[in-house]
Amino acid sequence: MTHPRPLPPRRLQGRTALITGSTSGIGLGVATALAAEGANIVLNGLGDRVEIEKIRASLASTHAVKAIYADADLSIPAAIREMMAQARNAFGVIDILVNNAGIQFAAPIEDFPETKWDSILAINLSAAFHTIKGALCGMRAQRHGRIINIAAVHGQVASPFKSAYVASKHGLIGLTKAVALETAAHGITCNAICPGYVWTQLVEQQIEDLARTNKISRDDVIRDIILTDQPNKQFATVEQIGALAVFLCSEAAASITGAALCVDGGWTAH
Ligand code: NAD
Repeated sequence: MTHPRPLPPRRLQGRTALITGSTSGIGLGVATALAAEGANIVLNGLGDRVEIEKIRASLASTHAVKAIYADADLSIPAAIREMMAQARNAFGVIDILVNNAGIQFAAPIEDFPETKWDSILAINLSAAFHTIKGALCGMRAQRHGRIINIAAVHGQVASPFKSAYVASKHGLIGLTKAVALETAAHGITCNAICPGYVWTQLVEQQIEDLARTNKISRDDVIRDIILTDQPNKQFATVEQIGALAVFLCSEAAASITGAALCVDGGWTAH
């Protein structure tokens, strides 16, 4: 009779991870990868409450972890502070913080609505300042923590018509470096992941808009517009981003801090 081989230990068992904007796309991919390694999860994001509850329950049961949902609108600092308190009350320390929530809007600067500029800067950049401020005290006390900011290739290079997005993502990489320097001696790392195009709802919306504006097919948009700067001509996947996040949370990555790691099929090698 053969005995079942013991499962390998889960690398993040007992840790708690808060992932902003984790009700869909990259954030959900990262939450799933962290839960698969045993981390308890604080989900956050907007969307249909019934769907979100299904996601929460499925993460918890599939990976045998605890998962809670915080409904904070990240454009409101007071709501972020409430979310951080909710997470601390449920789990104690937030060991892993992933600032992922983000929005996009494209228009020439002269036509760029000021309210869009304000909300992109608030959600893509300022929210990360508020969450980091709320998480650091506990991380410092236990001399361990992992902060991952989901920036973008647009944190390293620009594209026209994306002024607010490009500014917010460049700012997020700057924040990443400053936090890394302030925390390096305390067992905490802070890094940015810079995806090229990943096929998610955020990109799907851009594909639909570009197809309508340019009166071309979805396939033409993907080939001739979306993936022109991505030399491997492939969308990155949420699983690839999740796997990198898990690595950055591991002890093997303890010396990587202040880095901006591209997952862009060679885009920024241009
Ligand atoms: P997505 O639209 O699928 O997910 C965005 C998440 O943010 C959702 O969970 C949404 O509910 C949440 N969110 C939006 N506004 C919010 C608010 N005010 N309060 C709380 N949550 C809010 O998008 P995605 O493609 O998964 O993008 C995730 C991150 O990755 C973003 O920061 C984005 O800039 C970045 N990124 C995406 C790509 C890509 O190609 N998809 C490339 C580079 C960087």
